[in-house]
Amino acid sequence: MNTSLRIFKFGGASVKDAAAARNVVSILQRFKNERLLVVVSAMGKTTNLLEQLVAAYVNKDKSLQDIFGQVKTFHLALLHALFPDTKHAIYAEVNNLFVEIDWVLEEEPGRDYDFIYDQLVSVGELLSTKIVAALINAGGLQCQWLDARDMIATDNRYREARIDWQQTEQHTRECLSKHPTHKLFITQGFIGSTSENFTTTLGREGSDYTAAILAYCLDAKDVVIWKDVPGVLNADPKYFPDAQLLEQVSYQDAIELAYFGASVIHPKTIQPLQNKGIPLHVRSFVQTDAEGTLIGPDSRTNASIPSYIFKTEQTLLSISARDFSFIAEDHLSSIFACFVQHRVRMNLMQNSAISFSVCTDGDTLKIEALVADLRERFHVRYNEHLTLLTIRHYNAETMARLSEGKSVLLEQRSRHTVQLVMQ
Ligand code: ASP
Ligand code: MG
Repeated sequence: MNTSLRIFKFGGASVKDAAAARNVVSILQRFKNERLLVVVSAMGKTTNLLEQLVAAYVNKDKSLQDIFGQVKTFHLALLHALFPDTKHAIYAEVNNLFVEIDWVLEEEPGRDYDFIYDQLVSVGELLSTKIVAALINAGGLQCQWLDARDMIATDNRYREARIDWQQTEQHTRECLSKHPTHKLFITQGFIGSTSENFTTTLGREGSDYTAAILAYCLDAKDVVIWKDVPGVLNADPKYFPDAQLLEQVSYQDAIELAYFGASVIHPKTIQPLQNKGIPLHVRSFVQTDAEGTLIGPDSRTNASIPSYIFKTEQTLLSISARDFSFIAEDHLSSIFACFVQHRVRMNLMQNSAISFSVCTDGDTLKIEALVADLRERFHVRYNEHLTLLTIRHYNAETMARLSEGKSVLLEQRSRHTVQLVMQ
């Protein structure tokens, strides 16, 4: 089924203004003979703005209307630039979405922050896909807009909803089979729906994951993530201008790099693709002729190029038993349970006879609660504002260069990866 379907994903930066949105349409025009399902995120910094809107609404902050005004102004300015005829139907569609926000804001805020978040923040994706769909249709291509909530079925863990794969596969296939002759579809990344039809989101930057989910469910031929960088690089070009493009990356390396903080793709993206051997291309929406990076079943990362990722604002916890007893399995299992309960992710861990060290993201609120709990049974010390450096395919030269002048608090090596917690 759908063996020829391809999934394209365009992120917020690719639709951040009118020129960018037109560029997306011109890219799609080049693929007009293929069957495409295009996933689009919210435009520019819309998601951040909507997050502020949620906070202002819940805290009854007087900035609420001002923030909502910014969301409107941004989208209306874009509409005026793209559709000079203000009688175009898109104006009413966009306005309807603003009205949906209004309806939420008129109510007293309930207590479930994450639920409210998903109902409001998801509107960013609805706005962007409506606008891009209208622009595609105005440009002469025919496209069918699909509501991702009719396809992506999730549980009700708002803000980090998990996929119900069976339902999603069924819904997705049904949804596409309703339009057998259509070639171009556009839908939202990042959002889904519970069995009770409440909107959910999959976690920040989750649109890549949406593309992978759809590819998995529809047995797509491949996925292309269009980015403002040339592909997967061995380091973040913001800090390392001489970062090198990796032409091929294995699934395993891609997962490792994304998991440890390489921001080029969402960490959950690879698994569904790997499970079905679907290739993923990461390429530039600016230099559209460049091939970019291929992550696929037969891809081999060039192991002679070390890749490195810096994760800042890390906290290193050191946990030991009060009575100087060994940190053995029973202690470890209660420590792990505590981390699970407080939803604190371990980025690195190491144990000695009497102490257990964990590096985590420096989320102060979460960590304070976790530490308070742990301190009922253990002695806990912690160090904040550290950096976790992960080097994949490391060598001595790279390690020395990247840790120069820093004090290394903890180091861990495996065959392919070294991690350093540095101050
Ligand atoms: N718009 C969402 C975000 O900014 C999802 C995404 O961009 O992938 O997090
Ligand atoms: Mg985004």
